[in-house]
Amino acid sequence: MAKIINVIKGTKDILPQDIGQWHNLEQKALEIFTRYGYQEIRTPIFEATELFARGVGDTTDIVNKEMYTFEKSDRSLTLRPENTAGVVRSYIENGMSRLSPPVKLWYKGPMFRYERPQAGRQRQFHQVGVELFGVKQPAADAEVILLAVNYLNALGLNDLEVEINSLGCPECREEYKKKIKEVLKPEFDNLCEDCQNRYEKNPLRLLDCKVESCKAIFAKPEIQKVIQSDFICEECAQHFDELKKYLDKMNVKYVVNKLLVRGLDYYNRTVFEIKSNNLGSQNAVCGGGRYDSLVRNLGGDDTPAVGWAMGMERLNALLPKCEQQRLDAYIVSNSSIDAMQLAEELRTQGFDVEFDLSNKKFTKQLEKASKVAKYAVILGEDEIEKGQVSVKNLDTSVQETIDRKDLRSKLENVKNS
Ligand code: ATP
Ligand code: MG
Repeated sequence: MAKIINVIKGTKDILPQDIGQWHNLEQKALEIFTRYGYQEIRTPIFEATELFARGVGDTTDIVNKEMYTFEKSDRSLTLRPENTAGVVRSYIENGMSRLSPPVKLWYKGPMFRYERPQAGRQRQFHQVGVELFGVKQPAADAEVILLAVNYLNALGLNDLEVEINSLGCPECREEYKKKIKEVLKPEFDNLCEDCQNRYEKNPLRLLDCKVESCKAIFAKPEIQKVIQSDFICEECAQHFDELKKYLDKMNVKYVVNKLLVRGLDYYNRTVFEIKSNNLGSQNAVCGGGRYDSLVRNLGGDDTPAVGWAMGMERLNALLPKCEQQRLDAYIVSNSSIDAMQLAEELRTQGFDVEFDLSNKKFTKQLEKASKVAKYAVILGEDEIEKGQVSVKNLDTSVQETIDRKDLRSKLENVKNS
């Protein structure tokens, strides 16, 4: 026998028995996002590497360690590790800034990051996300957070925590970065390697470190004092206060987490995460924030923007498994030709129908019917001759013989019940 080829580490098949959950996530996304005026966009799965280097930021783990990059015809291409950069590229390239703002877009699809696979962390995973362009006011931040919460609620997820923070603007953040560096300087040698590397380039990212010894350092009173201080400028503070007012008014519960900085370079002012209390260590289901300089950095006009992404595998892990859909009818017959004809007739009427393609015994066909369908439609020689069918309800085992012309209304009853 030929050697078996396995699925690549960190990737997974989504099998038919699990697809119902995915359809549910996708259908609810379309339904809820449409209700808020968002339109779906689908961008390519690979893009120029430079888009992510500039868009996501070259001090991030994503760009430094996690990208799937390859060369083709002397071009460096990368499988998208996230979709915001691609959506922004498309927004610019397709002149969407000429549309009257806000431009509201949503997407879903696979993303690729070379990370250590574990529960809730894969190398190919899926995100659903939204981006809102053209509004600098905090109402936009509030709307996208509200949308995230309502989408999660529509899925049946309620035990969630919304964390928010403000990273300020590039100007006030500079001051804060300086202070963080200053207060951490005496501890430099005790920081983990990642933190030491980020200390110069991206000191705020240190606060996000998951290493216990680093967390202990950040918990020290003199360091906490800087972290908890209100460093943001008046305008940024006002933006954050207004956001909180909107959230209060809309009954969105949240906590302010000053350690929340997010892994991507492009955020300013509002950042947020939604965590589930039922997910173990990979507990973030949603991450997002405001990114007012990204469109300009990627060559477009100055355009404020805010958005978020959710991990679909993590959402699925929180949701109950969907029941497999059953067929409306399975036709049991010794004549595949007659069965095929009847199946086609019923399918054009909108029923989900199968029949035996391989001349199996009657009893085997009935067994199969009881596994996959709500009704067995029995088409024996007798029935064919008389223009009848026998219909067996596979839940109750009640069987009756009816005229073929009455079959449609019989099956319609089940479909609607
Ligand atoms: P984390 O801190 O969990 O690595 P992140 O900050 O890298 O998350 P984002 O880039 O903001 O995540 O992506 C948004 C969401 O996508 C996350 O909250 C998570 O639900 C999901 N996600 C991110 N990376 C992965 C992955 N490797 N596998 C599965 N889901 C992921
Ligand atoms: Mg990550």
